[in-house]
Amino acid sequence: MGIDLTDRTAVVTGGASGIGRGIAVELAREGADVVVADVDDQPNMDEERERGTTVDLVRDLGRDAEYVETDVTSESDVQGLMDATAERFGGIDILVNNAGIAGGGSARETSLEFWNRVLAINLTGAFLCAKYAIPHLVDSEQARIINISSQGSKRASGTNTAYCVSKAGISHLTKSLAAELGPEGVNVNAIMPGPIRTAMMAEVLDDPERRQEYVDQMCVPYHGYPEDIGRAAVFLASEDARFVAGHDLAVEGGWLVN
Ligand code: NAD
Repeated sequence: MGIDLTDRTAVVTGGASGIGRGIAVELAREGADVVVADVDDQPNMDEERERGTTVDLVRDLGRDAEYVETDVTSESDVQGLMDATAERFGGIDILVNNAGIAGGGSARETSLEFWNRVLAINLTGAFLCAKYAIPHLVDSEQARIINISSQGSKRASGTNTAYCVSKAGISHLTKSLAAELGPEGVNVNAIMPGPIRTAMMAEVLDDPERRQEYVDQMCVPYHGYPEDIGRAAVFLASEDARFVAGHDLAVEGGWLVN
């Protein structure tokens, strides 16, 4: 039997652009309705904007979709998002914690303000979304939380400390939530993407020399696209992943092998 996410409702944070958009579209392709939770409904790359908003793309696939303006660092925004979704769609089955920001800097270069901002969006935002989605997820028959981590959670460069620490935190949040919620039927896993061509990475990956530096560190001779992460999310959301819990799934072209 193929994957079927019909009648399931997914909330995708940071779903307006990049990886979140790729995840929203792939979940919808398999039948899910999608709520896009972001600070802006417009994608942040010109080429994405030309194809329409994520809500447009999901509706083009024949699925229901809504945009709910949400800053994942705001407790009231997040609580409102989950309650509005449950009321409008009758529940929440899948939460994808994808909203995130990058930015470099060694510990010496990192201001307290930047450190707090990265941790607030990338890590505390995922905690808040899980906290307020849990009362709805436990009522679902096939509930999932999928956290978007990074290969940076495992491999530190010393030049993007706050980001890597936030993603290492996501890996442990994944395990903690899996232990807490698994017995109640909510499977929690993470995906660790490698270099994916989005607004976050386009400047690097569109420069042939810098792209080659990245590609040389992987097993496969190419970088990824948002739909590569979308397909991994489809697997983790599906019944096929019923025995996968608390796992960091590397979708990074073998970056961590070398
Ligand atoms: P992106 O910049 O294209 O998209 C990020 C989205 O998050 C945007 O739509 C943005 O508006 C939204 N966002 C930012 N702050 C927010 C907030 N406070 N509340 C709600 N939404 C907010 O980036 P992307 O590359 O698609 O990254 C998505 C996730 O994937 C991030 O968590 C990132 O760390 C992770 N990741 C990306 C890569 C990569 O190579 N692109 C690699 C590893 C991990």
